[in-house]
Amino acid sequence: MGKYYYCLVNGKLKQSTINKGFFSKNPIVWSARLATGLFGLTTCPSGNRGPKGPGEVILAIGEAGLQDLVRLGFVPCPTCRPEETTAFRFESIRELVRAEYGLSSMKEFADKTALPYDARRVRWEEILPRIGRVPSRIYLPSGLSPQRVLAFRRRINSLRPMIRRYTAPVLGYYSRSASGHVFIEYRSAE
Ligand SMILES: [Zn+2]
Repeated sequence: MGKYYYCLVNGKLKQSTINKGFFSKNPIVWSARLATGLFGLTTCPSGNRGPKGPGEVILAIGEAGLQDLVRLGFVPCPTCRPEETTAFRFESIRELVRAEYGLSSMKEFADKTALPYDARRVRWEEILPRIGRVPSRIYLPSGLSPQRVLAFRRRINSLRPMIRRYTAPVLGYYSRSASGHVFIEYRSAE
């Protein structure tokens, strides 16, 4: 049996075997990393470094998949820049982006100062019960108060009864340092 991931098909996450046949049938595949709330290309060098598996990454196909990912709260990855590929048609998500974020251009949508990293945007309630597990880490913005971190932890915890293989995620943020990017954990009282 090949490797499988959950793939958005008609707006629903479906377990799909990922092999050569999958990619030849679906020339345009987007990959979304749950931990960061970013989506991009399946060849993304940044995405390929981290852990990978059906609890870490979901896939989406073509224009409909792009719309689904935006609806689920994912924003473009600044490393592989999916918005610069010809398969990315901003027209197909323009209304969603305007309604959700009040932004009107692809440039703003991809700009991390206009729309910063924040995995709290992800519609976890729709995704985690379906895939039955939780990513090991979740990247929140830096500088959150303990109350806000706790609120997010409670949001994820509340899904526990609906998640087959629940493991509490480590919550933290990316920090730019002299040695590159490091993950810093938010330590909370709960
Ligand atoms: Zn990427």
